[in-house]
Parts: sequence; structure tokens; C-alpha cells
Amino acid sequence: MKDVSLPPAIRSTCPYCGVGCGVLLREDGQGGLTVSGDPDHPANFGKLCSKGSALGETMGVETRLAGPRAFGTGVTWDDALDLVAGRFVQTIKDHGPDSVAFYVSGQLLTEDYYVANKLMKGFIGSANIDTNSRLCMASSVAGHKRAFGTDTVPGTYEDLDEADLIVLTGSNLAWCHPILYQRILRARETRGTKIIVIDPRRTASCDMADLHLPIAPGADVPLFNRLLTEIAARGAVNADFLTNTNGFEAALAAAQADGAPTGLTEDDIKAFCDMWIENERVVTIYSQGVNQSTSGADKVNAILNCHLAAGRIGTPGCGPFSVTGQPNAMGGREVGGLANMLACHLDLENEAHRAAVKTYWNAPAVIPDAAGLKAVDMFNAVADGRIKALWVMHTNPAVTLPEADNVRAAIENCPFVVVSDITDQTDTARIADVVLPASGWAEKSGTVTNTDRTISRQRSVLPAFGQARPDWWHLAEVGKRMGWAEAFTYEGPADIFREYAALSQIAGDFGKDFDISALKDIDTAAYDAMEPTRWPITDTRQGGRFFADGAFFHADGKAKLLPVTHRAPAAQPSAEAPFILNTGRNRDQWHTMTRTALSPRLSSHLAEPYLDIHPTDAADLGIAAADLIKVSSGHGGSILRARITDAVARGQVFAPIHWTGETAPSGRIDAVITGNVDPVSGQPETKAMPVAVERFDAAWYGFAVSQTPIRPDLPYWAQARTTAGVRMELAGSTEIADWEAYARSLFDLPDADISSVIDPKRGGARIVLSHDGQCLAALFTSRDPIAVSRDYLALAVGGDAVPMLTGRPPVDQPDPGPTVCSCFNVGLNTILAAIEDQNLLTVDALGAALQAGTNCGSCKPELTDILRSANVKEAAE
Ligand code: SF4
Repeated sequence: MKDVSLPPAIRSTCPYCGVGCGVLLREDGQGGLTVSGDPDHPANFGKLCSKGSALGETMGVETRLAGPRAFGTGVTWDDALDLVAGRFVQTIKDHGPDSVAFYVSGQLLTEDYYVANKLMKGFIGSANIDTNSRLCMASSVAGHKRAFGTDTVPGTYEDLDEADLIVLTGSNLAWCHPILYQRILRARETRGTKIIVIDPRRTASCDMADLHLPIAPGADVPLFNRLLTEIAARGAVNADFLTNTNGFEAALAAAQADGAPTGLTEDDIKAFCDMWIENERVVTIYSQGVNQSTSGADKVNAILNCHLAAGRIGTPGCGPFSVTGQPNAMGGREVGGLANMLACHLDLENEAHRAAVKTYWNAPAVIPDAAGLKAVDMFNAVADGRIKALWVMHTNPAVTLPEADNVRAAIENCPFVVVSDITDQTDTARIADVVLPASGWAEKSGTVTNTDRTISRQRSVLPAFGQARPDWWHLAEVGKRMGWAEAFTYEGPADIFREYAALSQIAGDFGKDFDISALKDIDTAAYDAMEPTRWPITDTRQGGRFFADGAFFHADGKAKLLPVTHRAPAAQPSAEAPFILNTGRNRDQWHTMTRTALSPRLSSHLAEPYLDIHPTDAADLGIAAADLIKVSSGHGGSILRARITDAVARGQVFAPIHWTGETAPSGRIDAVITGNVDPVSGQPETKAMPVAVERFDAAWYGFAVSQTPIRPDLPYWAQARTTAGVRMELAGSTEIADWEAYARSLFDLPDADISSVIDPKRGGARIVLSHDGQCLAALFTSRDPIAVSRDYLALAVGGDAVPMLTGRPPVDQPDPGPTVCSCFNVGLNTILAAIEDQNLLTVDALGAALQAGTNCGSCKPELTDILRSANVKEAAE
């Protein structure tokens, strides 16, 4: 009998956020994967958010790079590697080691990072390697090092289960780390955990909060200084624990002297202090809202001061908790991926550390004794010609760095740029000289570290696409060709991991916290089978929390409380730029969408870039819902769709970070941000940018669907994938005389049959292009933002052309409306109808009726919001 059983599942790790959820992967027999949560992984116990659940839909190869390319032409691997090695060698010979740089990524596995760091710091002899994690959590690293003497996250995920109070500050956990958020909601249900959200915006994380503090942008330091003052005034200082610290008096004096406004009422501040002080078990979770600031490191230390003063650190349910954005941001921190770190938490500035690492690596170069160029400075150095050869790995700085237009120009003008990535269809890869095909996440093998120090295996499930190779291999092959064959000959990732674990023993011998030396002799089979394991991993210790014993990592063994006071964001609003722009993430997208945009399901939730603006501000500027808005600063501008909402305060606006030249060229919001950085951490300030806001006056607005992607030449377009092709929002600034001719040209369908309704007076057109009655593409335009049934049209392309001309579904086919639950494709109109028809009052009732929210649960905050609005409306009627 034919065996129809499924292939065994392979345990791996989700490649998106720092929660580090375990996944079970199975080949589906058609080149793709089925993906489910790993019930045995301690990060998620089988649960996945919307992004993790849709991983299987992102395995398409249509955007993959199949082989190396140099100067626009396909080349062999040998030629590509010789070219890269030769140009780096020549550049170093001509201009010195600091004339080259690596800009790498939290998407790299630890083994990739290890080889990159070894090559740059030990063999090239420069510290010019930095990672896009600089944009994410460098301020946390700096704060940890200043307070603890090391970059250590003290607690564990179990603390979220055991806390009585969880404070989220600068963290929209519900969207950015959904599995942790749902873990907290379960704790809320089972043990009544209280939740406070500190955020200038009312985010999805506020829906279940007991208290939302809409803090003024950048005012975290004075708020936590006020808390420290209250901790002291109310006798909540832990005097015993304080003997393990220095600096309390100075920190308290600074806190008492602060008093900068927070934008909060006295009642709110008192309620916050009451809850924090009265609940012994308190975890303060912080993320990009704290870190992405010119005072980010001070904000982190203001938080740590409170936990240290109260002795609430390292015990169950207690502690500060920095949550990281990327899947291996933590691994990068451990292995030395930042320009200011050596490896294994050893210090570049420490002569003994440098000497020990140099000896261990048998490195020919003098390891630099000071930090290299951090991300923003690195691209400034590319712009002014100091960096002449640049290697970018798995990241897209032409979109994601502040002043992105200037960064893109700098990369274009750099004499030699290499990109390693899975695709050459990114803003950065398109302007690189050499593009090297990298293995995708399901093709790679290695380790990642998540936010709570758990090291997990990422396992190869699929064969490499085309000629793609792992990143460590790219680096090692170039290292060999630069003359260091012995140091860069590895059989595979297990080899690299053993070398790394053995190096960590040297760090342990220096008294460092990061020590995984018990794994230094791990054989390849055991490495392959390695269970998720929290570090440290030594012969005497495994995992656990740090610091409850009062042992810290400064030279005197004590922690430091730092005196910090408020510093306003570097740029202040002015008459020319009166609004403060905040940036962040969407629920269903990841970074610049190179993977998530491949999933129609994920793309259906918030399908274009937008700007949230308060209703009063919008009215003052003559902006109506669905208008387009131009946001600009001195060096860049974006055009985004208006979303009018009181979730943002007056004078503030919010935009997501995800759109690129590939998906919405005018939506590149980092083009607007100035590259002001924290002087301690080097992290740029991306959440408090003064901007001008005005209505963008389009001559016409459009919505289009097409079976194939297009790249129109228009001031505004945004494209999202659907199961039937693509859907697009469009806007033009010139009148169109002949809409039919325009549509043929737009879709490059000169010979298609065409049916249309043209309304010249209202600038409107409805045009369907077809072949043999089957719709190939359709365009709907109007002088005003166009109102059609987008979700119906998005799926109808490819089907019968005739009914599409109305832009509405047939009467017997209800319009589901914009997607809310992407797991079960449940739209807003469907939800509203169910609420009204069935008198539904709870998220659980909606789940029972429509399945919405019953899989990953990521949409539950939006369902709560919809229910609340619907019920408020009903009560008012
Ligand atoms: Fe992946 Fe979601 Fe888990 Fe993050 S929370 S690791 S995106 S499944």
C-alpha cells in the first residue's frame, strides 16, 4: 500500500521577531512548507501570531536571486568571490582597513555573525562592522552595560506569567511581539495581572490595559524619575539590595531635580506610581519607543534605576525586560555584531580581552582598541568617501536608515558595494555592484538567540534555491581568498558554533556573563538535535535569571544607578514643521516586507502606507478620510493615505516603516527622518521627528487590480499582493485625456478587450481589460478618493470580466470589507454585520460566530475595538 503519511516535522525557529517562537516545518511536496507552532518550544508552546502562521505562504521563489550577479550580469561563484575579495584587498591596501565596512543584520544566524565579526575585527583589522540592530535596541545594550557592567537581559519569559503588574513602555507588544502579549493576557485571565501601557499613541496594546498613559514624546526619563522619587519617598527602597549597587544618592538627587513635563496628569502619574510600588512583582517591558531616541540610553537607565532601587530584579515576576525586534538581534549582541563590542561580551577597549581573542583566532591584524563606525556614522562615511568598499548583508539601508534618500545616494556613489540577500529586488540590492544569493531562512542551519536568552536551532528544511549559499559561507570564502584560508575553513555551522562556544570560555574566565562553554565540544549530531537552551551554559550553571544574588559585572561587582535627567528630542517642532512624526510597525508586516509581502493574507491587512492624524488637525488642514497627505522635513518627503483617528494626540502623527521602492516608492518614511543619534548608543531617533503635513492635491485617484505586478510612473502608488495578482492604490497629478489608452499603457495590455464607463465631468473612469471574457486587469478612477469594493475586486481579477465594471460585488455576494482577521480572511463588514444581526458582545462570541481571532489571536485587540465602537454607536442610537 502506498505510504501517504506526512514527512516528519522539523523543529526550527520563526525568522521574524525576537520572541523566537518554535515552529514545526514540513515540506509540502510542491517546493513549499506547512508551518505550525512547536508545542514544546518554551517561547510559544505551539502558538504562532499572524506572521508566523503565514510563513508557508512566503516561500515563493519568484523574487529569489538564483545566482551571483556582478555589474548587472550573471557570474560564477568563483568569479564573484574573487571579485569581492580582490576589491576588498585592494581597497585595504590603498586606503587602510578602516576604508571598508560590513553592515549586517539581525536576520543573520549566530554562526554567520561570528564569521563576519571574526573577518572584520580579527583579520581585516577594523571595527567597521555594525548591524541593523543598531536601529532597534542599541540603547538597551548601552543602558544594560552602564547599569550592570554587561549587556544582560536579567529575566525570562516565565516572569510574564508570574508578574502582578506588567508595564509596557514604548512597546506596542500586541502587534510587534504578539505571542508575548497573548501570554500576558493569559496571565491576566488566570492571576489578574494588571497592565499599564505608556505610549503617546493609543495602540492595540491599550485595549486590555488597566491604565494608558499617553506620555509626551520623549518624556520617559522624567516619568521614571518621578517613580524613583516616589519609591524613595514612600519607603519602597530595598536597602539590603542597594548594598549591591553604587550611585543611588546621585540618581535620586537627579530624579528629584528633574521635573520636566511628561504630558500626563498628576492623577495618572500617581496611579502609575501607586500600582508600580504596591505590586511587588512588576516587569517593565520596553522596546523601540524607548530605544529609538537621542536619550534612549538614559531612558533605559531611568527604568533600570527604579528596578535596582526597589530590588525588583532577577526574582520571579520581577525585572526590567528589553524586548528585541529581530529574530537574532540578541545573538548579534552576544557574538560581537555591533561596532562597539568584541565577541562574547568581551570589550574592544580592554587590552587583555583583545590580546586573548587575537591569540585564540591566531589573527594577523591588530584588533582595534575603539569602536568602529555605528550605522548612521557608517553611511555618513560612505557618503563622504571614507568608506570605499561596503558589504551589506540581509538588510536594506537605502530604505531603513534615517535620511534614506541621502543614504541611497551614498550607496550609489560608493566605489564598491556588495549585497548578500535572498533577492536582488530591494532598494539596496538594485544599486549594488555585486549581489550574492543567500540561502533563505528555511534553507539555513544555525542558531538564534531570542529576547530571553534562549538559544534555538534554525534548521534547514528545504534545499537551497538555485546557487544560494549560507551567509557564513559567503564570508568564509571571501576570507579564504583574502589570504586566510586556515582561519576560515569550516565544514559547516556546527564547526563555527564549537569555535564560538570555546571562545565564550575565555569570556567566562574573564568573569563575563556570556559563557556557553559547556557546548564547546558538542558533536555535530548533538548540535543538530540541540534543544532550546537559555544561556549561560557552563559546567556549573545553565540558564536562570541574573542579579537576584546582587552579583553584577562592573569591576567592583556592583550595579550602578545613573543620574539621568530629561533631554528633549534633538529636533523640535517649528512653524515650518509643527507636527511630531512617530513611526512603527503594522501587525502583519515585517520590516521592508521582502517576505511578508509575498503572503496575500498578510498583505490584505493595511494594504498601503498611511499616516494617522487627529481629527481636529485633519479638519484644520482640510484633510478628509482617505485623502493623501504629504509629510515632509528638510531633506525628504513621503505621500501617505490619511487615517483620521484620535488614537494619536493633536500635533502628533504616526506612519508605519514597511514600504519601499518596490511596494510604494513615496511611502519610504525614513526618507523624512533626520539622522540624529543617541550620543551613547548611536541609535537614531525615529519617533520624534518634526514634520510639515499638508493635503496632497492629486488630479485623480485610482484603484487597480491586475494579474501581474506593474510599476507605474505616478507620484503615488502602492501595490499589495492578492491571491489573484496584485491590488494597487494610485494617484496622478496630471489630467488624463484618454483613459482607455492610459489603462492599456498602464497594464501593458495593448491588445486586450476593453469595456469602460467614462465620466469626464467627474474625472472618473471604470475600465476592465479582458481576454475571452476573463478579466486581466481593471482600473477605477475619480477626482476624489475612489470608493469601490476593494476586497471583492482584488479577488475577482482573473474571473468573469462583466460584473467587475460596477466596482461592487453582485447583490447576492456581500462585500467582506477590509481584512481584520487574516487567518480566516474575515473582513470588517462581515464583523459589523454579525455584531448587529446576532447581537454579539464579546470577542469570544465573534470567534464562535465567524472564527475571527480563534487561530493566532493577533486581531483580538482590533476585534475588541470594533466591538466597543459598534456598541457605543448602538448605545447612542
Ligand atoms: Fe514569529 Fe510571531 Fe512568534 Fe514573533 S511572535 S517569533 S513573528 S510567530
